Amino acid sequence: MIELKKYHLWVLGCQMNKSDGERIAGVLQSCGLKPTLKEAEADLLVVVACSVRQAAIDRIYGKARQWEKRRGSGKLSTILTGCVLDLDKNKMREFFDLIIPIKDIKRLPDFLEKKANLDLAAASYLKLPPRYGSKFQAYVPILTGCNNYCSYCVVPYVRGREISRPAKEVMAECQWLLQNGYKEITLIGQNVNSYQSGRYDFPELLEEIDSLKGNFWLRFATSHPKDLSDELIEAMARGKHLTPHLHLPIQSGDKKILQAMNRHYTPGQYLKLVAKVKQRIPGLMISTDVIVGYPGETKSQFNNTAKIMRQVLFDMVYINKYSPRGGTAAAKLADNVSWREKKRREKVLNGILKRTALERNKKLINKTVRVLVDGWKQGDCFGKSDTFKTVVFSGDQKMIGKFVAVKIISAGSWGLKGELV
Ligand code: SF4
Repeated sequence: MIELKKYHLWVLGCQMNKSDGERIAGVLQSCGLKPTLKEAEADLLVVVACSVRQAAIDRIYGKARQWEKRRGSGKLSTILTGCVLDLDKNKMREFFDLIIPIKDIKRLPDFLEKKANLDLAAASYLKLPPRYGSKFQAYVPILTGCNNYCSYCVVPYVRGREISRPAKEVMAECQWLLQNGYKEITLIGQNVNSYQSGRYDFPELLEEIDSLKGNFWLRFATSHPKDLSDELIEAMARGKHLTPHLHLPIQSGDKKILQAMNRHYTPGQYLKLVAKVKQRIPGLMISTDVIVGYPGETKSQFNNTAKIMRQVLFDMVYINKYSPRGGTAAAKLADNVSWREKKRREKVLNGILKRTALERNKKLINKTVRVLVDGWKQGDCFGKSDTFKTVVFSGDQKMIGKFVAVKIISAGSWGLKGELV
């Protein structure tokens, strides 16, 4: 084993993976390793793989080939973790020194032949102390795994069935964050709506965290439409710290495609749900995920997705071109929509989003919004509003990590410009 000093973390995919990355960083730093943002400076590369996109796995192959020269000359060690199937493992084995399930990352010190200055023996994976990527924003995992078996996703196979983190542990982490000046907490899990720990279901957990003292925003992701309960909508509407933003993945606007995806709701049910939440929480922003070019998706089925996008007027849509992820049910089907057609469908949806997002954003002109500043460049501050809109305004670098009031003066599809009030 080479003497390891610096690690570089490469995280693909969702917030859950980012949170896993923070826990990996916590373990590595307890072993005395320092982080670097530059891949070339690192003597340890850790990759956290993604659950849904085969394209992400293919990117790992591409990168891993580039590392081979340094690895071959003994200057680099590589570790692969995250959502990795046995199938991926067999193909990737030659490029990685260690392939380890995410739940076993507390074993990293043994592999690195390092002593951790943490008591890892008793720690469950979610209890590992993270090295937060920010001093004012934090992801707090509340559950891992999934019972849903959407046809295109490997999460249930690689992470297993849902396990909720004890409410006491979640509360303790949130309390620590607030005592240490954190301004934004995002509770994460593959399907937060099915959280259950003792007497706490997800709305009860939200209410308990929302009742904590402090000046903070509380967000969560991701919600499965089939599990979004009235109690959760009430908790969101009543919460003092809960923000008016809901990420509610629709994936398709076609009944048959949703059935094939094993999603357990219809486009009609999704529309009713959106109407109900919007009515109870005025000013709510809704974002979603869509997959285009699912096996067998006809042009008219795709047009149903385009139609529902025009109906809902989403504020943001994360559009993915379908690529079969080995090991999933969908991967057994013929991937029969050409890449060119998938790109065309993506372009059509992007065009709709550009118009609807602009329409929605224009409604905020002359309104004052609260923004948590998270970046600064050449005299401009950047941040997100409570509704998760990107806002830019002239300001001081010292505002990073603070809440400010900004009056919106102009709007584009992807963000808002404003003036400090
Ligand atoms: S709800 Fe579906 S897409 Fe989300 S993690 Fe579970 S199986 Fe995957």
